[in-house]
Amino acid sequence: MSPPFELAGQQVAAGQRRTMQLALAQLYTQSPLTVPVEVVHGKLPGPVLLLCAAIHGDELNGIEVVNQVLAKVNPARLRGTLVAVPVVNVFGFIHKSRYLPDRRDLNRCFPGSEKGSLGARVAHFFVTEIVSKCSHIIDLHTGAIHRANLPQIRAQLDCPITRQMAESFGAPIVLDASIRDGSLRSVAEAQGVPVILYEAGEALRFDPLPIKAGVRGVLRVMRNLGMLKASTARPVAGPIIARSSTWIRAEHDGLLHLKVRLGDRIRKGDCLGTISAPLGAEQCKVIAPRSGIVIGSLTMPLVNEGDAICHIALFDEIKQAELSVERFVDELDIQPAPL
Ligand SMILES: [Zn+2]
Repeated sequence: MSPPFELAGQQVAAGQRRTMQLALAQLYTQSPLTVPVEVVHGKLPGPVLLLCAAIHGDELNGIEVVNQVLAKVNPARLRGTLVAVPVVNVFGFIHKSRYLPDRRDLNRCFPGSEKGSLGARVAHFFVTEIVSKCSHIIDLHTGAIHRANLPQIRAQLDCPITRQMAESFGAPIVLDASIRDGSLRSVAEAQGVPVILYEAGEALRFDPLPIKAGVRGVLRVMRNLGMLKASTARPVAGPIIARSSTWIRAEHDGLLHLKVRLGDRIRKGDCLGTISAPLGAEQCKVIAPRSGIVIGSLTMPLVNEGDAICHIALFDEIKQAELSVERFVDELDIQPAPL
């Protein structure tokens, strides 16, 4: 039997779950602002998994993933502890914004400090009160406004535990992504806590496919870590790891007619769409500069020269990557949303 789990001065007995509201800061009105946290503390000891979403306050898919995972986890059968934080950036969430009120990106404020800016304080609070109690992290994100991402895992694959988490998630594509200064990943990895980042869908939406894939992926990682009983379902095929990725940018200003969708395989030289003026038939083509798989895309048809249109993952084994995406979509039985 596990000893009680303590978080921010509150205890949760083994085999119990508890919802907490952790005092974070105050609004301009001096009303308290709290971060909702649910702890599910299993009867038997095991990993302490932090599942967090909305570090960018307008990224909503992860919030739904957290809630659906919580509904499926029974503390009587859980080994270890699940610490679920559906909305890390409560300030941004209230305003439907990616950012904090001072327009800082919370995911560039880690590890933060006790006496710094609002972002530094929020980051410091999150690290000291929550991250420091956890042994593994899954951080849930979406694309930005008007940009959608094919479900994908980003992680530093040098660490064998991180790699195992990334592979067991079951997303079709994994990006071996370098760590950005100030991100939650940077501080977690500096503390030796393996972290994977799930990117899927678009900001300010509930996207069915990314949510379903996210719930399945988190539960798979929990099974792989021994927190849940192994499934009798057939194991997922290993994901395909991208060599690198690149953005295709608009070469003209105008209205974009994009012909490719998330998950599509493109070949160097393909015409991916056109950019035209509001009047007149004159169009210029958007030509693929490389071969790869579309893993991110603009969902809004207005572009200025230089705007990113498509994010393309590059592979050594592109046929396998294409099959991995097809298999993934078939298993979920939900088509990716048209762009
Ligand atoms: Zn994000």
